[in-house]
Amino acid sequence: MKSDQFRRYGHQLIDQIADYIDHLEDYPVQSHIKPGDIRSQLPPQAPEHSESFDAILSDFENIIMPGITHWQSPNFFGYFPANHSGPSILAELLSAGLGVQGMLWLTSPAATELETHMLDWLIDALGLPSFFKSTESGGGVIQDSASSAVLCALLSARERSSQWQSNHLGIQQHLVAYTSAHAHSSVEKAIRIAGIGSDNLRLIAVDENHAMRADALAHAIKTDQQNGLLPFFVCATIGTTSTTAIDPVNTIGPFCKQHDIWLHIDAALAGSAAICPEFRWLHNDLHYADSYCFNPHKWLLTNFDCDCFYVKQRSNLTQTLGVNPEYLKNTATDTGKVFDYRDWQIPLGRRFRSLKLWFVIRFYGLEGLRSHIRNHVELSQQFSEWIDAHPDFELMAPNPLNLICFRHRSDNIFNQKLLETLNASGECFLTHTQLNKIYALRVCIGGTYTRKQHVQKLWQLIQKTSQTLQTT
Ligand SMILES: *Cc1c(COP(=O)(O)O)cnc(C)c1O
Repeated sequence: MKSDQFRRYGHQLIDQIADYIDHLEDYPVQSHIKPGDIRSQLPPQAPEHSESFDAILSDFENIIMPGITHWQSPNFFGYFPANHSGPSILAELLSAGLGVQGMLWLTSPAATELETHMLDWLIDALGLPSFFKSTESGGGVIQDSASSAVLCALLSARERSSQWQSNHLGIQQHLVAYTSAHAHSSVEKAIRIAGIGSDNLRLIAVDENHAMRADALAHAIKTDQQNGLLPFFVCATIGTTSTTAIDPVNTIGPFCKQHDIWLHIDAALAGSAAICPEFRWLHNDLHYADSYCFNPHKWLLTNFDCDCFYVKQRSNLTQTLGVNPEYLKNTATDTGKVFDYRDWQIPLGRRFRSLKLWFVIRFYGLEGLRSHIRNHVELSQQFSEWIDAHPDFELMAPNPLNLICFRHRSDNIFNQKLLETLNASGECFLTHTQLNKIYALRVCIGGTYTRKQHVQKLWQLIQKTSQTLQTT
């Protein structure tokens, strides 16, 4: 592609994205195409000859767009949000334009140093313990996802607990890990990948607020120790995926310390809220953590993918994941004075992701990011008051931040039907969870463009739809 062609289509595409953002509400939130509908419109084989860019764009519009679920719609309330924003999109474009691969400090010093600096900025902005700073024993690194973060934490814990001997011994069969029954599925996936085995992951019971029971954890650990097993890893969650429950790190933490167990804290969604002083209590007990992560790509206006992962001892991570083959050796690495982030993650190669954090933080300022969070928390409190005050509905879990779990006071089948009907309308998108076998609807208010009128409209829709369903 010649540069004049790139320029012309580039301008056109930016216009197209801006128009898309302006008209997000015109699209049905969820794509309702059938499985196979997209592929059936694509040629079975790749083209032998060059095609015009106009033809590609036109197929994008006609074939791809109907198969898009509009995550950036202000009426998207499903799962957890995946914020984008202008400065973040532009930084992503710039990163693609540079096309750098930042596996080593040497392969683009700015990519590494900006990342280290952004992760240090966020320590102060979120009130994280200062031992996570690059200027102390710890450090932060951008992972693609919270799933990769927990895997890196788990592997480091595995190595530490085998006194860095696992290269000689193979995987230890007697290691046991713990997390709550409401922890994210990525913990179990990491356990399987790390060769620990799902049977050696204990899913600890939760209390009436769906938070891990510290007494049940202590009991499980003691029992395993008595049976000659080695408890080595606990993952606590600040803001679980089902209900944003908050595990009691203030009691789990000291216990892990006492038994020399690695404590990873997963605050994928909720961590972002700590940018506001009034929500900093979320991070009160983080000084017990060996590692911690949160996702700016969920609720902090930064495009997927961007998970900020911190470790207390960066040597734990680099001893576990460090490699130095001949073809990557260089004098900068040899000095020991630079970070080579390939040693802080699973893959070798890495994107220049800190650029989007830098753009976002500077464009909005911490104050702008705080009001983004505050608006959503306030709207969530309002929404939960409406639910609570209505005789037909009930809240199913506490709502400390921006997720409301609720149900209609009838059976599971009715609630499932309610969700399906709401989503089929195209006017909104919600997801669900199960709490003690009871089907609960989840409304997460955290979209980049979600404002009061969207939440009001959602509440009207929910009331109207449930009334219609009741009379049919
Ligand atoms: C969303 C979420 C994850 C997984 O996030 P990815 O970054 O997509 O891997 C992990 N833990 C919790 C608590 C989450 O809410």
